[in-house]
Amino acid sequence: MVREQVEARGVRHPEVLAALGSVPRHEFVPTALRGHAYADRPLPLGVQQTISQPFVVARMTELALDAERRERALEIGTGSGYQAAVLAELFGTVHSVELDPELAARAGEALERLHYRNASVHCADGHLGWRLGAPWDAILVTAASDSLPPALVQQLSPGGRIVYPRRRADGSQVLCVQEAASEPAQQAREVLEVRFVPLRGPAE
Ligand code: SAH
Repeated sequence: MVREQVEARGVRHPEVLAALGSVPRHEFVPTALRGHAYADRPLPLGVQQTISQPFVVARMTELALDAERRERALEIGTGSGYQAAVLAELFGTVHSVELDPELAARAGEALERLHYRNASVHCADGHLGWRLGAPWDAILVTAASDSLPPALVQQLSPGGRIVYPRRRADGSQVLCVQEAASEPAQQAREVLEVRFVPLRGPAE
């Protein structure tokens, strides 16, 4: 998986490759789909959500590592917990926020089973970020929205990075990187065409 799907597509950061090599992806996939855990595609988690394609996880992680510090990472959209585990290999502490209580519970159990003691899952609306523990050196959003929720920008540390999928007016999506800005209007950098499930409101 790492060689053919990730390295071959240009992710070269040795620590990202090592992290993807050491997290057992099958532990985060529903039992019935374990045979496909290392396939080159997203996989359904039930409840209409998906675990991202390995390459997309790798690329987002690589972009997050451009942050000046690696003490604290926040993920919005825990899903399976797989991306959180990859982050936990590389950052001091990882917190991940998931709206769906069942997914949050399952992901928390998987992370605990695999002894990721530096990763915590919270069931909450990720639009608000996670104030306890802010500021974050890196924030990864793994569900798409039209614009970056302002709370996330406020919770970013100086020298930090937010990696997030932005939905365009035509419905397509682009992965963007937002640096901590002295000027709030600073433009996000567009990196890659992607396809994520939507970032939902708490009542959706
Ligand atoms: N990063 C995940 C995949 C994420 S799929 C992994 O590694 O498996 C997107 C996730 O975002 C879904 O689990 C969905 O329930 C969650 N989500 C959607 N809207 C949200 C919100 N407002 N706050 C937190 N999580 C949200």
